[in-house]
Amino acid sequence: MKTNDQKTLVPASFPRPIVVISRCLEFDSCRYNGERIPFDLVGELDGFVEFRPVCPEMEVGLGVPRDTIRLVASGPRDLLVQPATGRDLTAEMEGFSKSFLDGLENVDGFILKNRSPTCGLRSVKVYHSADKPVTARHGPGLFAKAVLDAHPALAIEDEGRLRNYRIREHFFTKLFALARLREIGRTGRMRDLVQFQARYKFVLLAYSEKHLRQLGPLVANQEKKPFDEVFADYRNVFGHALARAPRYTSVVNVLQHVYGFFRKDLTSGEKAFFAEQLQRYRDSRIPASVVATVLQGWMVRFGEDYLLDQAFFAPFPEDLINVSDSGKGRSSDARRAGRGD
Ligand code: SF4
Repeated sequence: MKTNDQKTLVPASFPRPIVVISRCLEFDSCRYNGERIPFDLVGELDGFVEFRPVCPEMEVGLGVPRDTIRLVASGPRDLLVQPATGRDLTAEMEGFSKSFLDGLENVDGFILKNRSPTCGLRSVKVYHSADKPVTARHGPGLFAKAVLDAHPALAIEDEGRLRNYRIREHFFTKLFALARLREIGRTGRMRDLVQFQARYKFVLLAYSEKHLRQLGPLVANQEKKPFDEVFADYRNVFGHALARAPRYTSVVNVLQHVYGFFRKDLTSGEKAFFAEQLQRYRDSRIPASVVATVLQGWMVRFGEDYLLDQAFFAPFPEDLINVSDSGKGRSSDARRAGRGD
């Protein structure tokens, strides 16, 4: 075990992710009834993220206030209709979504308004008909579906789920990783991609060992493919690796693996303290970042530079850790999200 009295924790620097957001979330009073949805996260992300607000319903010419619209099942397809006027807005919304998404460059993620027939990511009611309140099924809104189809590997969440601590932590992890990757794509340097893979090793281990094994050969690039080709494949696989929040058990495995670096040099009191913190995390009483901080202390003490560089311990800016919200991890929803169920 090395010792290094000089070593300190240097805060990581982060690029600014570019995020498309439903305009009615904090930005504009553009809901059908003239409402704006208060959404504190927008203020919390100020300075860390570059927002690109959009209201697809306004973009297809619907005013404020406006008659409500709904999704109606039509075979396997969903139509977007306005019952009060009889208008079918499907083609207009699909046309706008395509041109908007085709024109998007350098975007890392989306934050969309939940339950909207346009922006809702999941569980939006799809009715049997335009005029009866009978639900046929549930699915994504029309614009949200186009987003999921066009950018399946990006960080995409709805505002309702982002109020949950664990889902937010997962979203930020992916968002800032993709922004980092975007910068590497701009430099076009293979060595930066190799370094990224090394830094995200434990993140990938927590999310998906299968994808970690897939990504290794990609960056090794034995076939000497051009950078752009390797990068496109890497970004796609990485995005899918982080599709869902990591399971509790996988996070615990990574924490225990890192603990193994120090175990033999720790006192019995320190070992007991670590075991206690790990159990508190298992019980959803504290976030993983608390246990990670304990490990970081030992990384500094024993001069483990390799571990200190791991993005697992600082996946997004520290100021975005909202510890006052961590209690939400106790809910069954949060547990399900954290386990990736
Ligand atoms: S949910 Fe989407 S379409 Fe509806 S008001 Fe908000 S931004 Fe506009």
